[in-house]
Amino acid sequence: MKEDTINESLTPLEVLEMSDQELFNDVNFTSIMPLLSDCATRSMVKNETLIHAGETNNNVYLILSGSFIVHLTADSADPVTELKPGQSIGEIAVIDHQPASAYVTAAEKSRVLVIDEEVMWSLIGSSHAIANNLLVVLSQRLRHGNSVINKIKGLLKEYEHNATVDALTSLYNRRWLDNTMIRVMHRCHKNKQALSVMMLDIDYFKDYNDNYGHLAGDIALRTVSETIKQYLRPEDMVARYGGEELFALLPGMDINGTLTVAERLREAIKQTKITNEDDEPMPGITVSIGIAEMFDHDDPHKLIEAADRVMYTAKHTGRDKVCG
Ligand code: GH3
Ligand code: MG
Ligand code: MG
Repeated sequence: MKEDTINESLTPLEVLEMSDQELFNDVNFTSIMPLLSDCATRSMVKNETLIHAGETNNNVYLILSGSFIVHLTADSADPVTELKPGQSIGEIAVIDHQPASAYVTAAEKSRVLVIDEEVMWSLIGSSHAIANNLLVVLSQRLRHGNSVINKIKGLLKEYEHNATVDALTSLYNRRWLDNTMIRVMHRCHKNKQALSVMMLDIDYFKDYNDNYGHLAGDIALRTVSETIKQYLRPEDMVARYGGEELFALLPGMDINGTLTVAERLREAIKQTKITNEDDEPMPGITVSIGIAEMFDHDDPHKLIEAADRVMYTAKHTGRDKVCG
């Protein structure tokens, strides 16, 4: 706190505007003015922090002019709320004596009236209206806190989605597969269910990119992904394993059932019409598929490797086929 910025008295205009303070709504001023006239004011420059998270604060600040932002981290770039003249800062800490949970920083040149804890309690004790107003302010804080929590929950969901879903294909990504596959394996084992997997790799995809452009390749990859999603059951899970390699988990399916599904899927992908960004028809593509059934429920890598190995057999023996 800069010494030269405190202990200035209220200007006549600030005294006049005191009734605009939300804490002083409907308050009889003559009775409280003696208490307020003992309070200091503090002038603050832009970006000066009034309250630091983690520190105790024994004052309530009434904003006389300027504005403040409330931010949860020392970085003020992402404020949770803004406070304007007429609003107060720090009432909760005066009541519960807990360290501040957020930072409050001047967003511009600002002035506050500093009401220390003792004076604040005298004000509350001397005016029923102030006590009422304080309850209203605290309720608003509570509601605002809940809306911030809801917003953060929404953002978390969005981040979680972005962290587990591949942006191009909208399939799960490799990270999701690494985290989830072992859980799916354990669940199937526990439920005495079979679990089969498919490794799909687009045939000659490098040539497709070279001949029709990377953008057309992206569209083809997205189209294939959509066909797979439409084709498999809701309980099946598909991830983008690598560049043009897709991996599906089929709970409850043994190798024979999976062979039938994979054959149909291979044919469906081959028949899928692909159109470019100008809606013009593009050549179709084929996939080679390797399938495998879980035998060791503790080792996802073995299962992936088994499917990958037979996928390469499909490649080496002509492509556009299923091996298991
Ligand atoms: P194979 O039949 O043996 O699988 O041949 P291939 O050409 O598909 O295999 P290769 O591994 O040589 O090439 C894979 C190609 O996939 C090269 C790479 O540019 C392309 N690819 C990988 N990810 C993407 C992507 O996100 N978009 C596009 N357009 N191409 C991709
Ligand atoms: Mg590949
Ligand atoms: Mg390929």
